[in-house]
Amino acid sequence: MNDISSILKTFDDKKKIIITAHVNPDGDAIGSELALARYLKGIGKNVRIINLSPTPHFLQFLLSDSSEIELYDAAQHQQVIVEAELIIMLDLNQLSRTGLMEDQIRLSSAKKICIDHHEYPENFADIELIDTTKSSTGELIYELLNEANYKLDYNIALPLYVAILTDTGSFKYDRTTPKVHRIVANLLETGIETKNIFREIYDQGTSNRIKLLGRALSSLTLCCDDKVSYMIVRKSDLFETATSEEDVEGFVNYNLSIKGVEVGLLFFETNEGIKVSFRSVDTVPVNQLANKFNGGGHFHAAGARINGNNFEQSIKNVLNETEKYFV
Ligand code: 5GP
Ligand code: MN
Repeated sequence: MNDISSILKTFDDKKKIIITAHVNPDGDAIGSELALARYLKGIGKNVRIINLSPTPHFLQFLLSDSSEIELYDAAQHQQVIVEAELIIMLDLNQLSRTGLMEDQIRLSSAKKICIDHHEYPENFADIELIDTTKSSTGELIYELLNEANYKLDYNIALPLYVAILTDTGSFKYDRTTPKVHRIVANLLETGIETKNIFREIYDQGTSNRIKLLGRALSSLTLCCDDKVSYMIVRKSDLFETATSEEDVEGFVNYNLSIKGVEVGLLFFETNEGIKVSFRSVDTVPVNQLANKFNGGGHFHAAGARINGNNFEQSIKNVLNETEKYFV
């Protein structure tokens, strides 16, 4: 039995299902969760989506109501996780990516399914559908539903479209295959208005966010023979521009708009330490680089969180490791 058929068989046997994704969820995480949950509810399952972090504002238009995704609260959800028959983890392959929910999930006797497209899996699940050649977890969910002979409708097609749109950088990254475009064509047939959806996701920011971007851009520095570009966003920048963590989304990509730059980094100061975003356009595998700091991701896009309060030293450490790819 292949992964997809064993997942579909498991759906037949289980009723109480929890779906979750990684901390600071992106369009792929939220879109995949909503599509899968709506499908499972449609076949009579008792499904709850529980996430550690809130749904970012730019994705909230996808929610049918605010309770469709629950924010993890230990007091309220510990028992729910213990009693679940099936826990499905999406768009992550290391359980630590669920943050505070990790221990509770490990303790639960529920069957565990992992559906993902990142490299270096931890192999914590009973069934894995992991394919690193896929553009997004959304693409895998599409294939799963297709195998289940599900006839697409708008309510499921829309979150899948958003998952694929956002994880392919609007259809420009490597794994945007002809097949991805065929899948997207099928999704669009359900009546998705691409222009409006694009504006919902990318053009509803605040003027404060643009001011924050201005600060980030002013911090831009080149090193390693101008092949590496990095930007720094400090807590004080957020405070002084009245912005929040989710406003930083996408900033790292500006590094790569510079001719000759092969690696772009964004150092973002958080309450716990530092969040680093890594991007590359050529031969540097930034997931390996991120891995040196207990992070991960894809060959050309990765991230890591480094705890501790020495922001400047953490930046130096990351730059030192990055330099090694350019000697
Ligand atoms: P971003 O820089 O946009 O937050 O993340 C880029 C990619 O790296 C995404 O595919 C994401 O899943 C992965 N990623 C980001 N942060 C982490 C992290 O702390 N740990 C791991 N393993 N992957 C991360
Ligand atoms: Mn993804």
